[in-house]
Amino acid sequence: MDCQGCGNELVEIALTVDGHELTMTSCSECDTRSWRRDGEFVELDGVLTDLSTTRTRYRRSLAN
Ligand SMILES: [Zn+2]
Repeated sequence: MDCQGCGNELVEIALTVDGHELTMTSCSECDTRSWRRDGEFVELDGVLTDLSTTRTRYRRSLAN
């Protein structure tokens, strides 16, 4: 899976929150990010609300 913006290879980070599988797809080149919840694309704001309890782990994952 490649970035729609720059064509760079995307990195996927999967989380499980309250029984839902969340996948963040991130481009390390242009910092484009998208989220999927149970396989469906979702808006970032809604995901961040859901992730409020796991934000620390999420940020740590991004630093890798
Ligand atoms: Zn990109």
